[in-house]
Amino acid sequence: KDRSSSMDSKELKETCLKHTMYSWGKRSAVDPLPITRTEGVYMYTPEGKKILDFNSQLMSVNIGHGHPKVVQAMKDAADGVTYVFPGTATEPRAKLSKKLAGLMPESINTFFFTLGGADANENAIRMARLYSGKQKILARYRSYHGGTNLCIALTGDPRRWGNEPGPNGIVHFFDPQPYFFSFGATEEERTEKSLLMLDEQIQYEGASTIAAIIIETVTGTNGILPPPKNYLTGLRALCDKYGILLICDEVMAGFCRTGKMFAFEHFGIVPDLVTVAKGLTASYVPLGAVCVSDKIAKHFDDHVFWGGLTYNAHAFCCEVACAVIDVYVDEKMADKAVKMGAVMRGHMERMQAKHKCVKAFRQIGLFGMMDLQNAEGELICGYNGSHPAMGALGKHFKEQGLFTFVRWSHFMCNPPLIISEEEMAEAWEIIDAGLTIVDGMI
Ligand code: PLP
Repeated sequence: KDRSSSMDSKELKETCLKHTMYSWGKRSAVDPLPITRTEGVYMYTPEGKKILDFNSQLMSVNIGHGHPKVVQAMKDAADGVTYVFPGTATEPRAKLSKKLAGLMPESINTFFFTLGGADANENAIRMARLYSGKQKILARYRSYHGGTNLCIALTGDPRRWGNEPGPNGIVHFFDPQPYFFSFGATEEERTEKSLLMLDEQIQYEGASTIAAIIIETVTGTNGILPPPKNYLTGLRALCDKYGILLICDEVMAGFCRTGKMFAFEHFGIVPDLVTVAKGLTASYVPLGAVCVSDKIAKHFDDHVFWGGLTYNAHAFCCEVACAVIDVYVDEKMADKAVKMGAVMRGHMERMQAKHKCVKAFRQIGLFGMMDLQNAEGELICGYNGSHPAMGALGKHFKEQGLFTFVRWSHFMCNPPLIISEEEMAEAWEIIDAGLTIVDGMI
């Protein structure tokens, strides 16, 4: 069913460009993709052009588009309580929090529902500060934590620059895997050296001033970087040594993307606070949450939590999240991500063997990225840089009907977890041809 087909692509684009603002760019440079229908791993233009979604939109439509059980749940939810003020006790709020408590580690049983990832991070930081009585937050350079004033200051990537100066009290530290510099040849070395450096930095900053360290458990947009061996257990130990809270931002990595319900489950740690959004509803409706460990929740038994939102625990959105979580569990989506992740890795290895422009790739579940190189074996462009071959690759993807993000020296590989082997092969056929174009331009 194509409900918006009263406008063709041209009219859709012109009207959206005239009357709306787009994100992170100049209005004159925006070229929006006109979409009137989505289903499974595909999107369709008004004229019926089929586009394979190889990024799950913003790494968020994990269960694919238009899942019939979720669509039905949305219709049913419209007949129930759609919205009441946050001071109410509703069944969707009760059901969703109970479900999440069942999925989280034993020590995490309390949830503060927001509208998305940024306000989840805002409120996690607020809780960390109120709980600890300390103000400073440490965050990493290769990170994105959201577009609000505080979250863009936490963010390490260049989206922060245009928003500076930001609020006080945020200090950035180096990731175990910086863009150019290396802490060592082995994972063990990278873990050891980067944590030693962080330990020293904590001492300079003053542990008594630091409320929390926030990390993306597996870094998303800034490189799809699973942490090196023992990094997270080491980081957890550092936090415990200095009385600093650990916040894991699982907005992108959570909900089966990496092959586990939550990415921290791979690495043997339990965070003090976890933030989620995107996959929580597979983006069918906006919803995020701060997942709060018992010790922090208990603090707020008799201390005021100085935060609130009109749409805190929005009943309709909580009901939809329940249906999406049932799909993750009933359809074993984490296992699907593992199985299809292995298939994707096979394609990535094949591309690396075939194309001289492929420098490296990373993949954990269906969370993946390929880095491209120049003839000298260096990343094809610098940090925040561009290269004509990357422009040509993006153009090829667009023309051939593959939707994904091409940024700096890399392109994203994050399809919906329901992708089939045939659909995966279709995507890599387009990528294969695109890499041939890049080979010819380096
Ligand atoms: N944290 C991470 C890791 C993200 O990837 C994002 C969004 O891309 C956010 C936070 C912000 O989420 P939202 O855009 O829902 O505010």
